[in-house]
This record gives sequence, structure tokens and C-alpha cells, in this order.
Amino acid sequence: MAELPILTVGPKGVGRLRAGHPWVYRSDVTGGAGAEPGLARLADARGKGLGTALYSPASEIRARRLAPEGVVIDAAWWRTMVAAAAARRAGIADTAYRVVHAEGDGLPSLVVDRYGDVTVAQLLSAGLEAVRADVVAAIRDVLAPHGLLLRNDAPVREREGLRRGVELAFGSVPERVPYAAGDLAWEAHPWHGQKTGAFLDQRENQALVGTLARPGARALDLFAYHGGFALPLARRGAAVTAIDSSADALAALAANAAANRLTVDMVEANAFDWLSAASPDAARYDVITLDPPAFARDKRSLGRALAGYKELNLRAMRLLAPGGWLFTASCSFHVHRGDFFAMLADAAADAGRRLALVDIRGASADHPELLTVPETGYLKAALLRAIG
Ligand code: SAH
Repeated sequence: MAELPILTVGPKGVGRLRAGHPWVYRSDVTGGAGAEPGLARLADARGKGLGTALYSPASEIRARRLAPEGVVIDAAWWRTMVAAAAARRAGIADTAYRVVHAEGDGLPSLVVDRYGDVTVAQLLSAGLEAVRADVVAAIRDVLAPHGLLLRNDAPVREREGLRRGVELAFGSVPERVPYAAGDLAWEAHPWHGQKTGAFLDQRENQALVGTLARPGARALDLFAYHGGFALPLARRGAAVTAIDSSADALAALAANAAANRLTVDMVEANAFDWLSAASPDAARYDVITLDPPAFARDKRSLGRALAGYKELNLRAMRLLAPGGWLFTASCSFHVHRGDFFAMLADAAADAGRRLALVDIRGASADHPELLTVPETGYLKAALLRAIG
């Protein structure tokens, strides 16, 4: 194999690597590895090797370490890593789940999701894009899907100097892909749906929320998308109202409901407007789910994001029946766990409701959160119950 270029890392960057975080920032780099993205060797100021990384010459995150010194990164390495990640998911009964959660599986900037017979991947760094052939071959050899779709339309690719687009890497991937999750049949829309086609990170939470419903219960699913929470609730006999501002999302929800012979009352509306028009005297709900998109895109928008989350939670809390459940989530990385729970306490106080914290939740286990890489754990959620 050709000699890899060497990237010299300053003391702060070396410290971060030692602390178990694989990222080397632009400001950590003291000696360049040239203009070509791809694999590079990391070294400290004295030339001591620190491992092999994906190098992104245009990105703030200049390099992402893959492996320590002495490990050769070749096609066989990618195969072994993807196989190990797949093996960790061996017990999952659902047929859609995340197979590779980027840094959380030791494969920075690579996401691979499985939907039944097909796979959908995202290559989210220039360094990774440069070794695309090995990555695609590993997915094909290990998972043997009917097709692999690359959802490389994620905005973060621009920060890497990469083009955005959706491409078929091999095989075929239909517009609608059936899969099974919980005891329900679903369809993902891998070409055009949000993320890679569904919100797999909420899979275990969707199953949990389903268990809260009783026949005749009233449930409200805010930010419903294709019914991740609405359908498990309806399956157990709840009368569900689902709110989403996207007509496409609700069309997918209607199709999923019909496939399972369930009915859900759907409202195309901005959840803020809908909640502010809803009167606690008119309707009380036994189960409410609140799963908004990320409001904080960066640290600067944290204050505004928290105000938005608080408004939603406060209004939802007011609509809970006595003994009712609120499952509430935030997928903004910049809203840390402490911020999230402080916001919820604030909302409960202002709503004048006594709420018990019954369960602290995160993403499903197929989205492993590394202790040393907080970015792998963006999703936090709480299951609350109205006491009285
Ligand atoms: N709970 C879903 C995932 C929700 S994703 C599941 O488990 O499958 C967030 C959803 O919020 C998207 O479908 C998006 O269309 C919707 N959305 C975004 N902003 C909104 C708003 N202001 N009001 C209502 N829906 C909104």
C-alpha cells in the first residue's frame, strides 16, 4: 500500500484523541497532509504515530481517527468493522434498524440503515467519500442487500466540500420499502423520506409508548411523521389524533395505518398553532407524544430552542388527563440532558401540573452512544406521568 500522508496534531488535539474522541479540528492541525481527502496518518509534534484517520482538507473537523497505530485500513478492515457492527444487532426482531451508527460503532461519518432487504447509507465526510469503493464493498459483502441507496443529500456534506445528492450504489431500491417493527407493518420511503426513510432512533420508544394505551384511551401524537407513535397507540385501542405540518408525512401515515387496518385522525397543522388553539377544558388526553425536529442547529440558537421546547411541553402538559402520560423528546445535540430536564421542570411549574419522571430514555440500542463521544447521543427523552 502507498505511504499515507502525515497530519501533525498539536497538544490539544492529542489530548482529545487520548480522551477517546476521534475528531481532530482544523485548529489542532500543525502540519498539513495536502489537498487530497482520504486516509492519513496522525502524528504528534515529535513524529510519534497516533493512528490512521479519514482526512477532510476542507472541513472544520479535519480528521476522524479510525484506528490506532499499527492497524492497516484496507478493504478487509472495512468488512470486519461492518460485520462486527452487524453482529452487535443480532438479537433485533424488527426488520428495520441502524446497522452502523458512525462514531458510535467506530466508523466515523458512516451511517448504514437496514430496511428489510435493502440498505441505505450516508457518507458524511470527504475522507470517507475517498474510500467509498471499500465501504460499499463491505456493505455488499457483509449485509448482502438487494440494493444500497446513498442518501448523500445531508446538508453536512457541504461543510466537507462535497456535493449533495441521492445515488443508487448497486442493486435496486424501490420507492417504498416494507418492513416490520413492533407488531406492525410499515413502509419506508428511502429515496425521499426524512433521514434515511424513517426515524429508527425512536424504535424502542415507539414500542414503549404503545404499551401505555388502553382500549378507549385518547391519545395525541404531535410531530407524527409516518405514525411511529400513533400506530402502536392505535393498535392497542387508543383513539389517536396525529398532528404534522407535512402533507407527505401524513400521506405516509395514512398508508401505514391502512396497511394495519387501523384508523388515526390526522390533522395537517403547525403543532404550535394547534396546541395554542386547543383548550384543556375541551379535551384531555391519556397519552401525548411530543417528538419535534431539532430546534437548536448550533449553540447560538440554544436559548430560542429551549423557549420553543418549553412552550410545546407546557401546552401538552396542560392537555393531560389525570394519570395521563407524556412522552417528550429532543433530538437537538446542543440541548444537553441537563438543559432538557431543567426545561421540563420549568414547563411543569408553569403548567401548574405535578409530573412524575417515570423513565429517562434515549435512542434505541442500535444507535450506540459512546461515553467519550457525546455527539453520538443527541436524542434524549422522558416519560412523564401526571399525578392527579
Ligand atoms: N415521531 C415521528 C418522527 C417525527 S420527525 C416518528 O416516530 O416517526 C418530526 C416531524 O415533525 C416531521 O414529520 C415534520 O414534518 C414535522 N414538523 C416539523 N415542524 C413541525 C411543526 N411546526 N408542526 C408540526 N409538525 C412539524
